[in-house]
Amino acid sequence: MNISQNVERGCCLFPNKPALIFEGLYFTYKQLNEMANRFANALLGLGIERGDRIALLLPNIPELVISYLGILKIGAIAVSINPSLQSDELKFILNDCGAVVLVTTETLREKLPKADLPHLKHILIAEGKASDAIALSEFMANASSSARAVEMERDDPAAILYTSGTTGFPKGATLSHGNVISNMHSMNHCCEMRPNDQILLFLPMFHCFGQNAVLNSGLNTCATIVLQRSFDPETVLTTISEYNNITIFFGVPTTFILLCDKASIRDLDSVRYYFSAAAGLPVEIAKRWQDKFGKVINQGYGLTETSPLASYNHELRYKLGSIGSPIENVEMKIVSLDDGCEVAPGELGEIVIRGVNVMLGYWNRPAETAKAIKNGWFHTGDIGQIDELGYFYIIDRLKDMINNGGLKVYPAEVENVIYQHPGVAEVAVYGVPDSVLGEQVKASVVLKPNQVVTEEQIIAFCYQKLAKYKVPSAVEFVSSIPKNPTGKILKRLLRQENSAAPSHN
Ligand code: AMP
Repeated sequence: MNISQNVERGCCLFPNKPALIFEGLYFTYKQLNEMANRFANALLGLGIERGDRIALLLPNIPELVISYLGILKIGAIAVSINPSLQSDELKFILNDCGAVVLVTTETLREKLPKADLPHLKHILIAEGKASDAIALSEFMANASSSARAVEMERDDPAAILYTSGTTGFPKGATLSHGNVISNMHSMNHCCEMRPNDQILLFLPMFHCFGQNAVLNSGLNTCATIVLQRSFDPETVLTTISEYNNITIFFGVPTTFILLCDKASIRDLDSVRYYFSAAAGLPVEIAKRWQDKFGKVINQGYGLTETSPLASYNHELRYKLGSIGSPIENVEMKIVSLDDGCEVAPGELGEIVIRGVNVMLGYWNRPAETAKAIKNGWFHTGDIGQIDELGYFYIIDRLKDMINNGGLKVYPAEVENVIYQHPGVAEVAVYGVPDSVLGEQVKASVVLKPNQVVTEEQIIAFCYQKLAKYKVPSAVEFVSSIPKNPTGKILKRLLRQENSAAPSHN
């Protein structure tokens, strides 16, 4: 097996059908496959071998798809990185995975640290001037366009996707060809994807949702993917009307919140299927959408570590507010936080997942992997409950995480940065409700004696070191941070104090 056989299948069955459409450019299945082959052969020419890590620091552009498929074809491992990360964050990831090649753009390359990247040997520039690096087009120009994806074993690693964690450092969730292929088939099955579907893809492809649930699944059914750099309501509506045949729409709750009022029934006429995941879809939005557009938003639940889909709330068996029931070949249960035993329906506990979708582990982190996967069950850090019919509901969170419009922020990482500010004595970072994003990042800061520091200064300091979505939208200065008798910060109390009417600015 090899994930990239999805594009090879498309090439055999529908060579001249558009696989990818991007800003007016069309790539047929044959062209996409040949370009991926060129990239694969050029990598082989560099001496890249099975298991080597190739990093992709790219926005949603066709070169990301081409390089990703090319990497998989030769059995190397694709490491897709969020392009909004800053220098220190990039350094950590590139060194952690030991990437030997990086594909990026001229603009993003500026953010790379100038030194301390001992493993990185080659930088390829996919967009913009290459200056002293190699242009991707040049790199691929003389390589052969014919190749076949090498056979991989089910458990051979295919991709590393970084997720942050409570320790404050990102961890590379390592997904195998078997993980991704099984999940891609499940997605095909859930959405009943067909070759004549046109799928809008604005979700970031550095994230498991965009990369696996949309890109890989779409290619696997030989559908056409209409790629966008990012989400913006106006562009999305223009694209839908321009192509007039978008049939499948994947989004996060924020997408649906922003489109619900803006879009008319006519705007979305061609769409037959909606899917939301990455954060809880507010019941109110699900109802309003159904009332206005007459179609259900199907909800999925999962994590990067579960490739990502684990459960699904299908419109034919729909239960409002639920994340549905486990997909094929995946088991889910709720276990007690006290003794780890399965609890009865209606009782709260942690959601744990076992099955073909559960990652191999965190890259080079056996201790973290052992903490996350116990007796084959992956511990999600989400608190939920199950009803008598086997439907799951997310109720709360065990992990200290903020879900900012589907992008996850781990307070420990933000706190580590704020602690580096010379005026700060103590800090606690937590999520506050937001009507569009679900949650926003807020920081409570205790200053050192006689220090004068403003909210703007703390925010500007964070911007230098953290991706934008992790930067607090508000900083409040306090005289002390609430703690329990053992000194543990009472984040729940901070969240409660800030739980007033959700705002959005
Ligand atoms: P990520 O690894 O970025 O995909 O984040 C996984 C986390 O997103 C999960 O642990 C949940 O907290 C959250 N999540 C994903 N899907 C849903 C959903 N349908 N409802 C609520 N939370 C979700």
